[in-house]
Amino acid sequence: MDFELSEDQRAFADTARQFAQAELAPHAAEWDAQAIFPRDAIAKAGELGFCGLYAPERIGGLQLPRLDATLVFEELAAVDPSTTAFITIHNMATWMLGTWGQDGVCSTWGERLTSGQKLASYCLTEPGSGSDAASIKTRAELVGSEYVINGSKAFISGAGSTDVLVLMARTGDAQSGAGGISAFAVPANLPGIHYGKKEEKMGWNSQPTRQISFDNVRIPADHLLGREGEGFKIAMKGLDGGRINIATCSVGAAQGALAHAQQYMQERKQFGKPLAAFQALQFKLADMATELVAARQMVRLAASKLDAGAPDASTYCAMAKRFATDAGFDVINDALQLHGGYGYIREYPLERLLRDARVHQILEGTNEIMRVIIGRRMLDGDAPQAIR
Ligand SMILES: Cc1cc2nc3c(=O)[nH]c(=O)nc-3n(C[C@H](O)[C@H](O)[C@H](O)COP(=O)(O)OP(=O)(O)OC[C@H]3O[C@@H](n4cnc5c(N)ncnc54)[C@H](O)[C@@H]3O)c2cc1C
Repeated sequence: MDFELSEDQRAFADTARQFAQAELAPHAAEWDAQAIFPRDAIAKAGELGFCGLYAPERIGGLQLPRLDATLVFEELAAVDPSTTAFITIHNMATWMLGTWGQDGVCSTWGERLTSGQKLASYCLTEPGSGSDAASIKTRAELVGSEYVINGSKAFISGAGSTDVLVLMARTGDAQSGAGGISAFAVPANLPGIHYGKKEEKMGWNSQPTRQISFDNVRIPADHLLGREGEGFKIAMKGLDGGRINIATCSVGAAQGALAHAQQYMQERKQFGKPLAAFQALQFKLADMATELVAARQMVRLAASKLDAGAPDASTYCAMAKRFATDAGFDVINDALQLHGGYGYIREYPLERLLRDARVHQILEGTNEIMRVIIGRRMLDGDAPQAIR
C-alpha cells in the first residue's frame, strides 16, 4: 500500500492547479454573482483532457484511473466548486456514452465530448422521482426503427447549454421497476424537447439547472446505450464514479477554504494578537485539517476500489460521498466562522464555497440514501457483508 502520489499524478495535480489559478480563480466570483455559464473556460479545460478524464480511449478520453481524476477535480474545486461539479457531471455522462454507446453514437459524439467542444447532461431525476429513482415514468417506445420519448426530467445540470442528454427512460411496463429502464444518448436540440426556466439556486450558479420535457421526441434505435433494461444499472454505475467526483468537489472546496482560514488567522489581529495566537482557534484549525485529510483518504480509497473493480466499490463510493460532503461542508463552515463577519460577505470566497458545497449533500443520491446503500449491504439478504 503506497499513499504517496506518483510523479505523473503530481504532474496532473500541478497542471490542474495552474489551470484553476489562471482560468477559474479570477472569474469564479463573477460567474457566481451573474449566473454565467463559463463555456469558454470549460472548452479550455477540454483542451487539457479534463472533459474526458476517465472516458475510454475509443472516444478520445484519457481513460485515467478514477483516483487520478480526483486529483484534477480537487484542484479545480478548490477555487470553483460549481464549474468543477459541472465538469464532473459532463465526465460522468461522457464515460457512460463511451462505455455503452454503439459505434455510430460514439463516432458522432465521442471525441467532441471528450475534447469539450460539446457538452453532456445526465438525466435521471423526474419531478415525482428523486431518491426513488427506479420509479421514473418517462417512456421510450420502440416504433419501427426509432424510440419515441415522452415525459419530463427535473433538476438537470447544464440543461439548455448542453448538446447531448444521457437519458434514463422506461422501456418496460409501468410495473417493471429498475429492470424496465433503458439508457439513451439523445441530441439535446431535437424537436419536441423543451427546456424549463433556469432554476434560481442557493449555489452552483455558474451552471444552469432546468427541467426538460419530451413530447414525442424521436431518436434512432441505435441511440440505445447498452441493452434494453440495462439503463438503471448503467445509471448507477455512472453514479458510483459521480459520487466520488462530487465528494472530491467537497474535499477541494474545503481545501480552498482551509487555506484561506490558515492565511487569515495570521493576518487578522484582535486583542492585540493575530487570531493564530488563540489556542481555541488553533484547535479548530487542527480539527478542520484532520477531518479534511480523513475525507480525502476515504475518497481515494473508494476511487481505488472502483478502479480495481472491487465487489464492495459501490458501498465505499456511498461512504465516501456521505463522509466527504458532510465533512467538507463543516470545514468550509468553520473556515467561514474563523473569518468572522468577513466570512459572510462576498468580498471573500467563503460564503460562495459554502453555498456551492451545500448541494453536494443532496444530489447524486442524498446523504440519507447513501446511508440506505451502506446499511443495506451490511444488513440485507442471506449474507450480510462485513465492512473492513
Ligand atoms: C442543483 C441540483 C442539480 C442536480 N443535477 C441533477 C442532474 O444533473 N441530473 C439528475 O438526474 N438529477 C439532478 N439533481 C437531482 C438530485 O439528484 C435529486 O434532487 C436528489 O436525488 C434528491 O431527490 P429529490 O430532490 O426528489 O428529494 P426526495 O427524494 O423527495 O427526498 C426528500 C428528502 O427525503 C429523504 N429521503 C427520501 N427517501 C428516503 C429514504 N428511503 N430514507 C431516508 N430518507 C429519504 C431525502 O434524503 C431528502 O432529504 C440535481 C439536484 C439539484 C438540487
